[in-house]
Amino acid sequence: MKQNKARLELSKEEMQKYGYQIVDAIVEHHHTQHEKFPVAFGSREEMDNLFLEEAPESGMDASKVLEFVLEKVMTNSANMAHPRSFSFVPGPSNYVSVMADALATGYNIFSGGWSIGPAAAELEIVTIQWLLKIFGFPKKKGGGIFTSGGSMANLTAVATARRIKCGDDFSKAIIYLSDQAHSSNIKAIRVLGFKKEQIRIIPTDNEFKFALNKLKNCIAKDRLEGLHPFCLIASAGTTNTGTVDPLPELASICKKEDIWFHIDGAYGGAAILSAKGKHMLKGIEKADSLTVDPHKWFYQPYEMGCLLVRNHKHLSHTFTEKPEYLRDIEGNTSEINFYDHGIQLTRRFRALKFYMSLKTFGLKEFRDAISYNIDLAEEVENLLRGSKSWEVVFPATLAVINFRYNPIKQHYSEKELDQINQYISHKVVESRKALLVTTILNDQVVLRMCLINPRTTMDDVTETLDLCKTFALEIEEQIAIS
Ligand SMILES: *Cc1c(COP(=O)(O)O)cnc(C)c1O
Repeated sequence: MKQNKARLELSKEEMQKYGYQIVDAIVEHHHTQHEKFPVAFGSREEMDNLFLEEAPESGMDASKVLEFVLEKVMTNSANMAHPRSFSFVPGPSNYVSVMADALATGYNIFSGGWSIGPAAAELEIVTIQWLLKIFGFPKKKGGGIFTSGGSMANLTAVATARRIKCGDDFSKAIIYLSDQAHSSNIKAIRVLGFKKEQIRIIPTDNEFKFALNKLKNCIAKDRLEGLHPFCLIASAGTTNTGTVDPLPELASICKKEDIWFHIDGAYGGAAILSAKGKHMLKGIEKADSLTVDPHKWFYQPYEMGCLLVRNHKHLSHTFTEKPEYLRDIEGNTSEINFYDHGIQLTRRFRALKFYMSLKTFGLKEFRDAISYNIDLAEEVENLLRGSKSWEVVFPATLAVINFRYNPIKQHYSEKELDQINQYISHKVVESRKALLVTTILNDQVVLRMCLINPRTTMDDVTETLDLCKTFALEIEEQIAIS
């Protein structure tokens, strides 16, 4: 047989050239991203015009493909690490982890089973232990797993809760969450095959916290009906307002009622590294399971979520299957096969970026960055309170602040205020100078800033507010004329 030429290879020199081009592009991007636009637009039609084609039968020069991608793909995507990317939950990321990800992918490390990648499994154990300690979970008995993100961590949590609390029959099982819980939780519950009748959405109080009395009533009624309350999902940092549910109270309700206590701290959990956050998150250590998203406020690039559990056996009891082709690599119990602790078999080496960035910067730099973010949001709150144009709708909480344009001299109706603030957001986004969208709080359209980027400065905020102000004056004029 002839030597196979179809090896999907580049020569050593080509690989180096190609690699350096990519590294140069990434470095340049990190160095200049604050000067670029955080917002990208593109209709399906425009994107089709740029990219739609049949799969090419013959290849072309690697550098040409790269050049095209850098020019057309990277520039037509929003920049969530931009210091003026204020909306949703930004992804500030960090360069060390970016390179760690390149390394993990470059070596194509399989992070499923111990015998294939003992060091990869060990680094996941070690970094999970760091997190267990940070969150006050039992270090010996506790466990966890890295996932693609918070959604998958929540799914893993609800599957585990159901396995441990219900076994095989979940026909009477009831799950509780608040109306501020993240949508990924409902998605997880539906994916797992629960019916609508098995989900209880509990209203929140005027601080957007779980209404405890309503929850207690609901659990009691469900018991009287012969149903089986098995899981409660609390939020440690709701996406809307950063609100933390009353964790100690919810923990004691769950304990008394023998209900699995899951906390979704996807974005807010990381605040525990700051003194203020630690205080606010009191009770988080009482959870049976906890979702945190390192690709949010632990500054990791996508994708990285994490589920921590009080008892690591709960994960292995839920996810261990024993197919015959994995027989030879089972190993002993201290050598964890992470495919036995979650849904994925083949897994990328996510722990590496967390490990390398923490080793490089040290925990203290993370603490300082997170504290800075929380302080910055509080400073923005003070600034808004001292202004005649702005109203704080919900105070700075875990680096999130909700506010609206509402000048004291004018007496706009709620409808006009909604219109004005919607217009401001629309025009700011259209300008591409900042990503600042609205949310709805108590039926009011409000502007929301999530300030978890450690490279966002007070100037970024004030300049964005000035921009908002110019658009506000624009729409006020229109209102005055009409
Ligand atoms: C972002 C978020 C999620 C979803 O996490 P992904 O990583 O986007 O899948 C879940 N819960 C909360 C509170 C979040 O902020």
